[in-house]
Amino acid sequence: MEARPLIYNLDSASLTDLLNRWNEPAYRAKQIWQGLYQHFYNAPDEFTSLPKSLREKIAAHLTFDGLTPVSTLSSSDRHTIKTLFRLSGGDVIEAVLMRYDKRNTLCISSQAGCAMGCVFCATGQMGFKRHLASGEIVAQVLHYARLLQEEGERVTNVVVMGMGEPFHNYENTMSAIDRLNDPHGYNFGARRFTISTVGLVPAIRRFADEERQVNLAVSLHAADDETRLEMMPVDRKYPIADLIEACRYYVQKTGRRITFEWALIHGVNDTPETARKLASLLKGLLCHVNAIPLNPTTGYSGKATDRGRAQIFKETLEAAGIPCTIRMRRGIDIAAGCGQLAGTPQPQN
Ligand code: SAH
Ligand code: SF4
Repeated sequence: MEARPLIYNLDSASLTDLLNRWNEPAYRAKQIWQGLYQHFYNAPDEFTSLPKSLREKIAAHLTFDGLTPVSTLSSSDRHTIKTLFRLSGGDVIEAVLMRYDKRNTLCISSQAGCAMGCVFCATGQMGFKRHLASGEIVAQVLHYARLLQEEGERVTNVVVMGMGEPFHNYENTMSAIDRLNDPHGYNFGARRFTISTVGLVPAIRRFADEERQVNLAVSLHAADDETRLEMMPVDRKYPIADLIEACRYYVQKTGRRITFEWALIHGVNDTPETARKLASLLKGLLCHVNAIPLNPTTGYSGKATDRGRAQIFKETLEAAGIPCTIRMRRGIDIAAGCGQLAGTPQPQN
Protein backbone atom coordinates (compact mmCIF):
# COMPACT_ATOMS: atom_id res chain seq x y z
CA MET A 1 0.00 0.00 0.00
CA GLU A 2 1.23 3.47 -0.84
CA ALA A 3 2.08 5.63 2.17
CA ARG A 4 -0.71 7.96 3.25
CA PRO A 5 0.09 11.63 2.61
CA LEU A 6 0.82 13.84 5.59
CA ILE A 7 -2.26 15.95 6.33
CA TYR A 8 -0.07 19.02 7.02
CA ASN A 9 1.16 18.92 3.43
CA LEU A 10 -2.27 20.03 2.22
CA ASP A 11 -3.04 23.69 1.78
CA SER A 12 -6.61 24.75 2.37
CA ALA A 13 -7.53 24.64 -1.34
CA SER A 14 -6.29 21.04 -1.67
CA LEU A 15 -8.13 20.04 1.47
CA THR A 16 -11.33 21.55 0.09
CA ASP A 17 -10.78 19.68 -3.20
CA LEU A 18 -10.23 16.44 -1.37
CA LEU A 19 -13.42 16.81 0.69
CA ASN A 20 -15.21 17.69 -2.49
CA ARG A 21 -14.04 14.46 -4.08
CA TRP A 22 -15.28 12.63 -1.02
CA ASN A 23 -18.68 14.29 -1.57
CA GLU A 24 -18.49 16.12 1.70
CA PRO A 25 -19.89 19.63 2.09
CA ALA A 26 -17.41 22.53 2.03
CA TYR A 27 -17.91 23.39 5.69
CA ARG A 28 -16.32 20.07 6.62
CA ALA A 29 -13.04 21.23 5.08
CA LYS A 30 -13.29 24.38 7.14
CA GLN A 31 -13.90 22.37 10.31
CA ILE A 32 -10.88 20.20 9.64
CA TRP A 33 -8.71 23.22 8.87
CA GLN A 34 -9.73 24.87 12.14
CA GLY A 35 -9.17 21.64 14.02
CA LEU A 36 -5.64 21.41 12.64
CA TYR A 37 -4.57 25.03 12.85
CA GLN A 38 -6.62 26.51 15.68
CA HIS A 39 -7.11 23.60 18.07
CA PHE A 40 -3.92 21.76 17.05
CA TYR A 41 -5.64 18.36 16.91
CA ASN A 42 -3.16 15.73 15.83
CA ALA A 43 -5.25 12.58 15.56
CA PRO A 44 -8.50 11.87 13.68
CA ASP A 45 -10.36 11.03 16.90
CA GLU A 46 -9.85 14.52 18.25
CA PHE A 47 -12.13 15.95 15.58
CA THR A 48 -15.23 15.25 17.65
CA SER A 49 -17.42 17.63 15.66
CA LEU A 50 -17.00 15.41 12.58
CA PRO A 51 -19.11 12.32 11.97
CA LYS A 52 -17.34 9.10 12.83
CA SER A 53 -17.43 7.93 9.22
CA LEU A 54 -15.50 11.00 8.12
CA ARG A 55 -12.96 10.61 10.89
CA GLU A 56 -12.42 7.04 9.71
CA LYS A 57 -12.01 8.21 6.17
CA ILE A 58 -9.39 10.74 7.24
CA ALA A 59 -7.56 8.05 9.19
CA ALA A 60 -7.62 5.71 6.19
CA HIS A 61 -6.36 8.22 3.64
CA LEU A 62 -4.12 10.66 5.49
CA THR A 63 -1.56 10.54 8.26
CA PHE A 64 -0.82 12.93 11.11
CA ASP A 65 2.42 11.21 12.02
CA GLY A 66 5.10 12.74 9.82
CA LEU A 67 7.09 14.03 12.74
CA THR A 68 7.52 11.85 15.77
CA PRO A 69 8.99 13.46 18.89
CA VAL A 70 11.75 11.16 20.10
CA SER A 71 13.30 13.09 22.96
CA THR A 72 13.20 16.49 24.58
CA LEU A 73 16.00 18.23 26.45
CA SER A 74 15.64 21.25 28.67
CA SER A 75 18.58 23.61 29.36
CA SER A 76 19.72 24.05 32.95
CA ASP A 77 18.16 27.53 33.09
CA ARG A 78 14.97 25.95 31.69
CA HIS A 79 14.60 28.68 29.10
CA THR A 80 15.55 26.51 26.14
CA ILE A 81 13.86 23.29 25.08
CA LYS A 82 15.12 21.16 22.24
CA THR A 83 13.11 18.39 20.65
CA LEU A 84 14.45 15.67 18.40
CA PHE A 85 11.92 14.43 15.85
CA ARG A 86 12.05 11.37 13.64
CA LEU A 87 10.79 11.84 10.10
CA SER A 88 9.19 9.19 7.95
CA GLY A 89 12.11 7.30 6.41
CA GLY A 90 14.11 7.52 9.63
CA ASP A 91 16.10 10.76 9.34
CA VAL A 92 16.00 13.06 12.35
CA ILE A 93 15.70 16.81 12.80
CA GLU A 94 15.66 19.16 15.76
CA ALA A 95 13.66 22.24 16.72
CA VAL A 96 14.33 24.57 19.61
CA LEU A 97 12.00 26.69 21.71
CA MET A 98 13.55 29.67 23.51
CA ARG A 99 11.48 31.25 26.26
CA TYR A 100 12.54 34.59 27.67
CA ASP A 101 11.38 38.19 27.89
CA LYS A 102 7.78 37.09 27.40
CA ARG A 103 8.76 35.77 24.00
CA ASN A 104 8.42 32.22 22.85
CA THR A 105 10.77 32.06 19.89
CA LEU A 106 10.82 28.85 17.95
CA CYS A 107 13.77 27.82 15.79
CA ILE A 108 12.76 25.28 13.15
CA SER A 109 14.54 23.13 10.57
CA SER A 110 14.03 23.18 6.81
CA GLN A 111 16.14 20.13 5.89
CA ALA A 112 17.56 17.03 7.53
CA GLY A 113 21.28 17.85 7.37
CA CYS A 114 22.57 20.49 5.01
CA ALA A 115 24.40 20.48 1.68
CA MET A 116 26.21 23.79 2.19
CA GLY A 117 29.10 22.43 4.24
CA CYS A 118 29.94 25.46 6.40
CA VAL A 119 32.88 24.13 8.40
CA PHE A 120 31.86 25.60 11.76
CA CYS A 121 28.32 24.18 11.72
CA ALA A 122 27.33 20.77 13.11
CA THR A 123 24.53 20.45 10.55
CA GLY A 124 26.97 21.18 7.74
CA GLN A 125 29.40 18.65 9.20
CA MET A 126 26.79 15.88 8.98
CA GLY A 127 26.05 16.46 5.28
CA PHE A 128 22.74 16.52 3.44
CA LYS A 129 20.06 13.91 4.17
CA ARG A 130 16.91 15.29 2.59
CA HIS A 131 14.59 18.25 2.13
CA LEU A 132 11.67 18.55 4.51
CA ALA A 133 8.18 18.53 3.04
CA SER A 134 6.18 21.67 3.75
CA GLY A 135 4.01 19.69 6.18
CA GLU A 136 7.07 18.58 8.12
CA ILE A 137 8.07 22.22 8.54
CA VAL A 138 4.51 23.16 9.55
CA ALA A 139 4.29 20.29 12.03
CA GLN A 140 7.30 21.56 14.01
CA VAL A 141 5.43 24.78 14.72
CA LEU A 142 2.18 23.01 15.55
CA HIS A 143 3.99 20.71 17.97
CA TYR A 144 5.12 23.67 20.06
CA ALA A 145 1.90 25.61 19.57
CA ARG A 146 0.12 22.64 21.15
CA LEU A 147 2.57 22.43 24.05
CA LEU A 148 2.35 26.14 24.77
CA GLN A 149 -1.42 26.17 24.47
CA GLU A 150 -1.59 23.87 27.49
CA GLU A 151 -0.01 26.71 29.47
CA GLY A 152 -2.20 29.36 27.88
CA GLU A 153 0.73 30.62 25.82
CA ARG A 154 1.62 31.00 22.18
CA VAL A 155 4.56 30.89 19.85
CA THR A 156 5.47 34.56 19.31
CA ASN A 157 8.24 34.28 16.69
CA VAL A 158 9.49 31.63 14.32
CA VAL A 159 13.03 31.64 12.97
CA VAL A 160 13.97 29.25 10.17
CA MET A 161 17.48 28.85 11.55
CA GLY A 162 17.54 25.23 12.60
CA MET A 163 18.97 22.45 10.48
CA GLY A 164 19.32 23.08 6.76
CA GLU A 165 19.40 25.89 4.25
CA PRO A 166 15.83 27.17 3.76
CA PHE A 167 16.57 28.76 0.36
CA HIS A 168 17.85 25.39 -0.89
CA ASN A 169 14.33 24.13 -0.11
CA TYR A 170 12.62 27.32 -1.20
CA GLU A 171 9.19 26.10 -2.34
CA ASN A 172 8.50 23.94 0.67
CA THR A 173 9.69 26.55 3.13
CA MET A 174 7.54 29.27 1.60
CA SER A 175 4.53 27.04 1.31
CA ALA A 176 4.89 26.14 5.01
CA ILE A 177 5.02 29.83 5.90
CA ASP A 178 2.01 30.58 3.71
CA ARG A 179 0.04 27.81 5.37
CA LEU A 180 0.86 29.04 8.88
CA ASN A 181 0.05 32.54 7.74
CA ASP A 182 -3.51 31.69 6.62
CA PRO A 183 -5.95 34.01 8.46
CA HIS A 184 -8.55 31.21 8.57
CA GLY A 185 -6.08 28.86 10.19
CA TYR A 186 -3.07 29.53 12.41
CA ASN A 187 -2.93 33.17 11.31
CA PHE A 188 0.72 33.64 12.21
CA GLY A 189 1.84 36.99 10.76
CA ALA A 190 4.55 36.96 8.10
CA ARG A 191 6.49 39.60 10.02
CA ARG A 192 6.91 37.22 12.90
CA PHE A 193 8.94 34.84 10.72
CA THR A 194 12.64 35.22 10.04
CA ILE A 195 14.45 33.19 7.39
CA SER A 196 18.19 32.84 7.61
CA THR A 197 20.14 32.02 4.46
CA VAL A 198 23.75 31.12 3.83
CA GLY A 199 23.56 33.54 0.90
CA LEU A 200 22.04 31.88 -2.16
CA VAL A 201 21.96 34.91 -4.43
CA PRO A 202 19.23 33.94 -6.94
CA ALA A 203 16.91 32.95 -4.08
CA ILE A 204 17.50 36.27 -2.30
CA ARG A 205 16.51 38.06 -5.50
CA ARG A 206 13.46 35.89 -5.92
CA PHE A 207 12.49 36.49 -2.30
CA ALA A 208 12.89 40.24 -2.85
CA ASP A 209 10.69 40.09 -5.96
CA GLU A 210 7.96 38.29 -4.05
CA GLU A 211 7.94 41.23 -1.63
CA ARG A 212 7.17 39.07 1.33
CA GLN A 213 6.88 40.56 4.80
CA VAL A 214 9.04 37.79 6.25
CA ASN A 215 12.31 39.02 7.82
CA LEU A 216 15.57 38.09 6.14
CA ALA A 217 18.86 37.25 7.82
CA VAL A 218 22.02 36.54 5.84
CA SER A 219 24.95 34.57 7.24
CA LEU A 220 27.95 36.61 6.23
CA HIS A 221 30.67 35.79 8.81
CA ALA A 222 33.53 37.32 6.80
CA ALA A 223 34.27 40.58 5.01
CA ASP A 224 36.61 39.16 2.37
CA ASP A 225 36.26 36.15 0.08
CA GLU A 226 39.49 34.53 1.15
CA THR A 227 38.33 34.21 4.77
CA ARG A 228 34.73 33.41 3.86
CA LEU A 229 35.75 30.68 1.45
CA GLU A 230 37.70 28.91 4.18
CA MET A 231 34.53 28.79 6.26
CA MET A 232 31.75 28.60 3.70
CA PRO A 233 32.13 26.71 0.39
CA VAL A 234 29.08 28.60 -0.95
CA ASP A 235 31.30 31.67 -1.33
CA ARG A 236 32.90 30.12 -4.42
CA LYS A 237 29.61 30.24 -6.28
CA TYR A 238 28.25 33.43 -4.70
CA PRO A 239 31.13 35.68 -3.64
CA ILE A 240 30.63 38.56 -1.23
CA ALA A 241 30.26 41.28 -3.87
CA ASP A 242 27.36 39.44 -5.58
CA LEU A 243 25.81 38.64 -2.23
CA ILE A 244 25.87 42.23 -1.02
CA GLU A 245 24.49 43.40 -4.34
CA ALA A 246 21.55 41.00 -3.93
CA CYS A 247 21.06 42.28 -0.38
CA ARG A 248 20.98 45.86 -1.62
CA TYR A 249 18.39 44.80 -4.19
CA TYR A 250 16.31 43.20 -1.44
CA VAL A 251 16.34 46.34 0.73
CA GLN A 252 15.59 48.58 -2.22
CA LYS A 253 12.72 46.35 -3.34
CA THR A 254 11.12 45.75 0.06
CA GLY A 255 12.22 48.68 2.20
CA ARG A 256 12.95 46.14 4.90
CA ARG A 257 16.03 46.01 7.07
CA ILE A 258 18.28 43.04 6.59
CA THR A 259 20.15 41.25 9.38
CA PHE A 260 23.69 40.00 8.86
CA GLU A 261 24.78 37.14 11.05
CA TRP A 262 28.31 36.93 12.25
CA ALA A 263 29.69 34.05 14.33
CA LEU A 264 32.64 35.60 16.16
CA ILE A 265 35.66 33.28 15.91
CA HIS A 266 38.80 34.16 17.81
CA GLY A 267 41.52 35.42 15.50
CA VAL A 268 39.53 34.61 12.36
CA ASN A 269 36.91 37.34 11.94
CA ASP A 270 36.87 39.32 15.18
CA THR A 271 39.52 42.04 14.84
CA PRO A 272 38.76 45.78 14.75
CA GLU A 273 40.26 45.80 11.26
CA THR A 274 37.67 43.24 10.14
CA ALA A 275 34.93 45.29 11.76
CA ARG A 276 36.02 48.34 9.75
CA LYS A 277 36.14 46.30 6.54
CA LEU A 278 32.65 45.00 7.26
CA ALA A 279 31.36 48.51 7.91
CA SER A 280 32.63 49.73 4.58
CA LEU A 281 31.09 46.72 2.83
CA LEU A 282 27.68 47.46 4.36
CA LYS A 283 27.84 51.22 4.03
CA GLY A 284 24.50 52.80 3.15
CA LEU A 285 22.60 49.52 3.45
CA LEU A 286 19.60 49.37 5.78
CA CYS A 287 20.91 46.63 8.00
CA HIS A 288 21.97 45.40 11.36
CA VAL A 289 24.67 42.95 12.41
CA ASN A 290 23.87 40.13 14.79
CA ALA A 291 27.13 38.88 16.21
CA ILE A 292 27.26 35.71 18.26
CA PRO A 293 30.36 34.13 19.77
CA LEU A 294 30.95 30.83 17.97
CA ASN A 295 29.25 27.81 19.49
CA PRO A 296 31.47 24.75 19.79
CA THR A 297 30.95 21.77 17.46
CA THR A 298 32.91 18.53 17.26
CA GLY A 299 34.17 19.02 13.72
CA TYR A 300 35.69 22.50 14.03
CA SER A 301 38.59 23.67 16.14
CA GLY A 302 37.94 27.44 16.02
CA LYS A 303 37.31 29.13 19.38
CA ALA A 304 34.68 31.65 20.41
CA THR A 305 35.65 35.28 20.75
CA ASP A 306 35.65 36.38 24.38
CA ARG A 307 33.35 39.04 25.75
CA GLY A 308 35.92 41.83 25.70
CA ARG A 309 36.95 41.34 22.08
CA ALA A 310 33.31 40.95 21.06
CA GLN A 311 32.52 44.29 22.68
CA ILE A 312 35.37 46.00 20.81
CA PHE A 313 34.15 44.47 17.54
CA LYS A 314 30.67 45.85 18.20
CA GLU A 315 31.92 49.29 19.16
CA THR A 316 34.15 49.52 16.09
CA LEU A 317 31.25 48.63 13.82
CA GLU A 318 28.93 51.08 15.51
CA ALA A 319 31.49 53.86 15.38
CA ALA A 320 31.47 53.30 11.62
CA GLY A 321 27.68 53.60 11.53
CA ILE A 322 26.57 49.96 11.49
CA PRO A 323 24.26 48.89 14.34
CA CYS A 324 25.35 45.67 16.01
CA THR A 325 24.03 43.47 18.79
CA ILE A 326 25.92 40.71 20.48
CA ARG A 327 23.53 37.87 21.01
CA MET A 328 23.66 35.82 24.14
CA ARG A 329 24.52 32.18 23.66
CA ARG A 330 21.50 30.07 24.52
CA GLY A 331 21.04 26.42 25.22
CA ILE A 332 24.69 25.51 24.82
CA ASP A 333 24.48 22.93 27.61
CA ILE A 334 21.98 20.94 25.52
CA ALA A 335 23.66 21.68 22.15
CA ALA A 336 20.70 23.77 21.08
CA GLY A 337 22.74 26.82 20.09
CA CYS A 338 23.10 28.11 16.52
CA GLY A 339 24.95 25.62 14.40
CA GLN A 340 24.88 22.85 16.99
CA LEU A 341 21.89 20.90 15.70
CA ALA A 342 22.86 17.52 14.39
CA GLY A 343 20.72 15.04 16.25
CA THR A 344 23.78 14.01 18.26
CA PRO A 345 25.53 15.45 21.34
CA GLN A 346 27.93 18.37 20.80
CA PRO A 347 30.72 19.66 23.07
CA GLN A 348 29.92 21.99 25.93
CA ASN A 349 32.82 24.37 26.52
N1 SAH B 1 21.33 27.59 6.77
C1 SAH B 1 20.94 28.84 7.27
C2 SAH B 1 20.16 28.76 8.54
C3 SAH B 1 20.59 27.77 9.57
S1 SAH B 1 22.08 28.12 10.43
C4 SAH B 1 22.12 29.76 7.42
O1 SAH B 1 23.24 29.29 7.35
O2 SAH B 1 21.91 30.96 7.57
C5 SAH B 1 21.59 29.45 11.53
C6 SAH B 1 22.73 30.40 11.87
O3 SAH B 1 23.68 29.77 12.75
C7 SAH B 1 23.52 30.89 10.66
O4 SAH B 1 23.77 32.26 10.76
C8 SAH B 1 24.80 30.11 10.80
O5 SAH B 1 25.86 30.71 10.11
C9 SAH B 1 24.98 30.11 12.29
N2 SAH B 1 25.92 29.11 12.80
C10 SAH B 1 26.25 27.93 12.27
N3 SAH B 1 27.15 27.29 13.04
C11 SAH B 1 27.39 28.10 14.09
C12 SAH B 1 28.21 27.99 15.24
N4 SAH B 1 28.96 26.90 15.46
N5 SAH B 1 28.21 29.01 16.12
C13 SAH B 1 27.44 30.10 15.92
N6 SAH B 1 26.64 30.26 14.86
C14 SAH B 1 26.62 29.27 13.95
FE1 SF4 C 1 23.89 24.73 6.35
FE2 SF4 C 1 23.44 27.06 7.58
FE3 SF4 C 1 24.92 25.13 8.73
FE4 SF4 C 1 25.89 26.45 6.64
S1 SF4 C 1 25.40 27.29 8.65
S2 SF4 C 1 25.98 24.24 6.93
S3 SF4 C 1 24.05 26.74 5.45
S4 SF4 C 1 22.77 25.00 8.25
